[in-house]
Amino acid sequence: MRYQLTDSVRLIPGVGPKLLEGLERMEIRTFSDIIGWYPRRYIDGSRPTPVAQLPKGMTSAVRVTIISVNSHRTPSRMQFVDARCADESGEITVRWFNQPYVQKKLEVGSEWIFIGSAEIFRGNLQMVNPRIVEEPEVIPLYSQTSTVSTNALRGFIKFALDNCDLSEHLPTSIREREGLISFAEAMDIIHRPKQMDDLLEAQRYIAFQETFEFFVSILQSRGTEDAQAGIPMSVDLEWLKRVVESLPFELTAGQKRVVWDAVQEMTEGKLMTRLINGDVGSGKTVIAALVAAVVARAGFRTVLLVPTEILAKQHSQSIAALLQTAGVRVALYTAAQKDDLKDADLVVGTHAVLQEKFELDRVGLVVIDEQHRFGVRQRAILRDLSEQVPHLLSMTATPIPRTLALVLFADLTVSVLREKPKNRLPVDTQIIYPRERAQIHQRVMSELQQGHQIFVLCPLIEEKPDEEELRLFDVEKEKKTVIKEAERLRTEHPEYGVIEVIHGKMKPAEKRDVMERMARGEVNMLVATSVIEVGVDVPNATVMVIENAEQFGLAQLHQLRGRVGRGLAQSYCLLCPSHPGGPAIDRLRVLVDHDSGFDVAEEDLALRGPGDITGLAQSGLPSFRMARLTDIDFLQHVKDVAQEYLSSGNKEALEGMSDYSHIKASLE
Ligand code: ADP
Ligand code: MG
Repeated sequence: MRYQLTDSVRLIPGVGPKLLEGLERMEIRTFSDIIGWYPRRYIDGSRPTPVAQLPKGMTSAVRVTIISVNSHRTPSRMQFVDARCADESGEITVRWFNQPYVQKKLEVGSEWIFIGSAEIFRGNLQMVNPRIVEEPEVIPLYSQTSTVSTNALRGFIKFALDNCDLSEHLPTSIREREGLISFAEAMDIIHRPKQMDDLLEAQRYIAFQETFEFFVSILQSRGTEDAQAGIPMSVDLEWLKRVVESLPFELTAGQKRVVWDAVQEMTEGKLMTRLINGDVGSGKTVIAALVAAVVARAGFRTVLLVPTEILAKQHSQSIAALLQTAGVRVALYTAAQKDDLKDADLVVGTHAVLQEKFELDRVGLVVIDEQHRFGVRQRAILRDLSEQVPHLLSMTATPIPRTLALVLFADLTVSVLREKPKNRLPVDTQIIYPRERAQIHQRVMSELQQGHQIFVLCPLIEEKPDEEELRLFDVEKEKKTVIKEAERLRTEHPEYGVIEVIHGKMKPAEKRDVMERMARGEVNMLVATSVIEVGVDVPNATVMVIENAEQFGLAQLHQLRGRVGRGLAQSYCLLCPSHPGGPAIDRLRVLVDHDSGFDVAEEDLALRGPGDITGLAQSGLPSFRMARLTDIDFLQHVKDVAQEYLSSGNKEALEGMSDYSHIKASLE
């Protein structure tokens, strides 16, 4: 029987309830998902690692000569074969349990390739139960979990590849012109390459296919809008000037330019669909507020969408204050608080706005703060809010390199906000290694004594790290959790004063209460998960301590760092990794060396290999698995191909395509 890519993995022989649950946790539900579970890396049997350089606890290949072989039987009747082996660089003992037959194969003096994981056992280098490679071959290694092992995955994937209908995803004409192999070939190679070099063609196929699908979907969603006229907004420039003068600060040149560009576009009767691509703290809120004021003055309403309730409340208050002179009436609309919207000029709300199908007439502008949390589909809902398509202003949570933003956000005009308000001191960012932790206490004390406040960040969810990685870096197993860390701090440091916690499992009202007390200065130290990452403003907070910092993506760390340095005092960001070395820690240096979020974003992308999507959702970028976001020329090329394809009337383009839900998810 042939299976379809959309069929459930429960149809694979050997997948019972327990495995099904394990697969579900890995978000593997269909044949398409299992085939899309690409190897994390490959071991190349033809390129063995010298024995002396074998990394401990990590699967590798060795090519060794057998020096001697003997077998034993333990009192408990366990049988093992030990082979002393060597290459030019060193010696290793290879041991097989309960496989007596291997002894016959391993003649003294013969050469073998073994694939396995080396460990130090009683002072000697040892490899247990390695795979004996008859001919040099490439072995794929998969990310596994405690329920679903790499071997099980290998079996399921093999079954899927052999029994599933792998119909082509790309239009044939395009595939031929681009010189790409077929989907079926690509999937076969990616999971069972004959040699490493073959992988390139498979990766090229996948990169093209996922990028093509991405562009087709966003270009399609734009539809005919760019030809469409927007609601014309008349603007009284003298009045706008007075509003700007009434602000508690002077706008930066960048802020003025973006406000002006947006307003001008609306007055000309064009539909504005603009992305404000700016760093944390660059002052995007006031831009939205001013554009909303213009819209209100012209007799229309604005809906401002934010990702959390806390942020909604804070925005409604700060915008109301900013726009007092302008006479803009601000209302709040969240799950917890639903103001009467009848006379509101500006409605600040969360997803609740999208869920309730209230009639809101005269919506002239939709502002989306922290752009990535809302996707194409939600934007379409917003478009339907009123009879005329409202203007759209979208604001990024973290900056995206300009060249990349221009290519990716095909459906938006991009305004870049480079500079920050003046008088802003860069945050002093330091890496604090485990043995230097006394420095944290010193910094915290000295800031508390000056009346400042402290954030302490912990990763809350105890994910099981990849076992192999775990052994590789010898990671301290226990991650700091918010509640335990707060308890520790309260016990060990009563002198810190009021210590509170905030995390995602708290009720919205509790979170709001804690945040408000923090904002009022009643809390000295707030121990939090990354729930505070978005938008919250506490200018009096000057220290951000980030525990297990290596667990966060760079974009997210930059966003977290942006929670301090919002006032006039010098602020500090202390990145505290849980162990002293490794590539994850080298990444942290990017934050020490770069203050600008644009620079951090570029370095972040440059450091990523294809498929390294950790923390990407945070930055609002599509999580491609093979395509590199640094390869602008490639992205532009695929975009052109998608554009051309659509304009030649292929509207059904998405029909035959697979369910690459990770890409769609990044758009939602
Ligand atoms: P973000 O771009 O991260 O959303 P916000 O809009 O929250 O940044 O602004 C950060 C802080 O900077 C706020 O306290 C805001 O009042 C202040 N701010 C914004 N623009 C200026 C400016 N031109 N001069 C001084 N402070 C400003
Ligand atoms: Mg903001």
